[in-house]
Amino acid sequence: MSDTSSLDALIQALRRLPGVGQKSAQRMAFHLLQHDRAGAQVLSQALAQAAGNVRHCQRCHTFTEDALCEICQDAGRDATRLCVVETPADQAAMERTGAFKGLYFVLMGRLSPLDGVGPRDIGVRELIERASDGTVQEVILATSFTAEGEATAHAIAEALGRRGVQATRLARGVPVGSELEYVDLGTIAHALADRR
Ligand code: ZN
Repeated sequence: MSDTSSLDALIQALRRLPGVGQKSAQRMAFHLLQHDRAGAQVLSQALAQAAGNVRHCQRCHTFTEDALCEICQDAGRDATRLCVVETPADQAAMERTGAFKGLYFVLMGRLSPLDGVGPRDIGVRELIERASDGTVQEVILATSFTAEGEATAHAIAEALGRRGVQATRLARGVPVGSELEYVDLGTIAHALADRR
């Protein structure tokens, strides 16, 4: 075994991150070991802790350390409105607008047949069951305005329609092709107010 095997293992581990190739993984590893040993410790502890403690909320599927996330536990939220988003980052963007007081369902992805992501992977059945529980009166589809996000919204709206549940879509105004998380707050708030 060579004396650089720990370094190699670190580089290979960093390469698991999306968009990180051999060169950037090497750069990150060298940086941590040469210039920021304290940072390396902080990173390794944070990773171990998050990987050990973070799970999915039983109701909305977002990340949480409890059985239910903070929003689902909040009795002050309007349980008649359910907003469907793709990711926790999109949910956070919606929360920052302050314009939505209802509850969420986080798909943790979107339909993508080419990548093998189907309805089961994004929890469509759980979503439909939740939406037809008698409490929810409106489902707001806030998936991204990409082709896959639109197809996801369409498929969910159809499934909801078969159960007689009303679905609305964020209005246009959000730029085509965009992920919600990168859209400015005013635009999201407008798109929410003008939903149809
Ligand atoms: Zn939740």
